[in-house]
Order: sequence, then structure tokens, then C-alpha cells
Amino acid sequence: MAWQQAAGIGSKRFVCGWCSNTVAASLGYQDVRAGSGVKIMGDKIYICPHCNSPTYFSSERQYPGAAPGAQVANLPPDIKALYEEARQCVAASCFTSAVLASRKLLINIAVNNGAKEGAPFIAYVEHLASAGFVPPNGKGWVDHIRKKGNEANHEIALMTRVDAEELLSFSEMLLKFIYEFPSRIPAS
Ligand SMILES: [Zn+2]
Repeated sequence: MAWQQAAGIGSKRFVCGWCSNTVAASLGYQDVRAGSGVKIMGDKIYICPHCNSPTYFSSERQYPGAAPGAQVANLPPDIKALYEEARQCVAASCFTSAVLASRKLLINIAVNNGAKEGAPFIAYVEHLASAGFVPPNGKGWVDHIRKKGNEANHEIALMTRVDAEELLSFSEMLLKFIYEFPSRIPAS
């Protein structure tokens, strides 16, 4: 490949995998056939106008991919690291790993909020529900996660993007309620 800075490459809107902002980039590079200057359709590198980092697009696949969910403030360091790891797994299309990281995350959230260690995975999720961390109309989530948890545990069941994003958004909701929102109350 030979990369050439492309004037008039056209604006591209995407979620930057580096800074998580939705951006419209118009500065980029395009693959050209070495020496001939002939442009190869498809492969492009765009530079994020916010963080200046490069993102590579090949046949509309994006590297690095955008991590789903949002950053959550005021997390304990271990929980923050695990949440970010689960997000990055989804961005890298490693969905089974993302589900396993999210389950580990939920266990840590539960233990951090009073659950006893050494229980089966679903006991931690049930602890979060019974201790009032899952909203009343969110109980269907607990049943759904129980079913999915069993699938992942007892069979070699590869998880899908939907599975990974569901569990991650459930985790994000809990993290916001448990750690971020309480920290926003002004000290009186
Ligand atoms: Zn960026």
C-alpha cells in the first residue's frame, strides 16, 4: 500500500475509537497503487479533528472500532479498568470476551456493594436486584442475564454483539446509578 494525503477525500462522520466523540473528519489519506497514483477505492485513513488520532477504514470496517457505551465518572479504579476492558472487547469484535469481562464486572460491583464472595454468578446479579440497585421495572433484565449466564457457563457458546452490548449497557446503567450520580450531589 502507498498512502497519499487526499485532498477532497470527502467528509466522513464516525465515532472515534480513541476519544469516543462523534466527529466529521475531512482530513485523510487514501491508498494509491504504488507509483501509478491510481486510487484504490475503499481503504482510507481519517484523522480525528478532535484528538488528531488516525482511524483506518477498510470496506467500511473501522479500526480501532468505537467502544459502545459512555465513560462513567467516579468509578473505583479496578471497576473502571474492567468496564473499559469490556468496552474495548466489543470495539475489537471480541464478544465472548466482552461478555465474560462484563460478568466479572457485575461480580465486582456486587462485592463492592455488600455481596458475599464465592457465590455463583447469578447470585451476585440477584444481590444487586434485591439490594435495590436494579430499578423495579428492570427485573426482567435479571432473568435475561440468568439465562444468558447459564448459556455462557455450561456450553461453549460464542456470544454475539447483541449479547455483549446488552450486558454492557446493563452494567453502564448500574455504574451510573451506583457511582456517578451520587457523586454529583453537591456537598451541603
Ligand atoms: Zn478522536
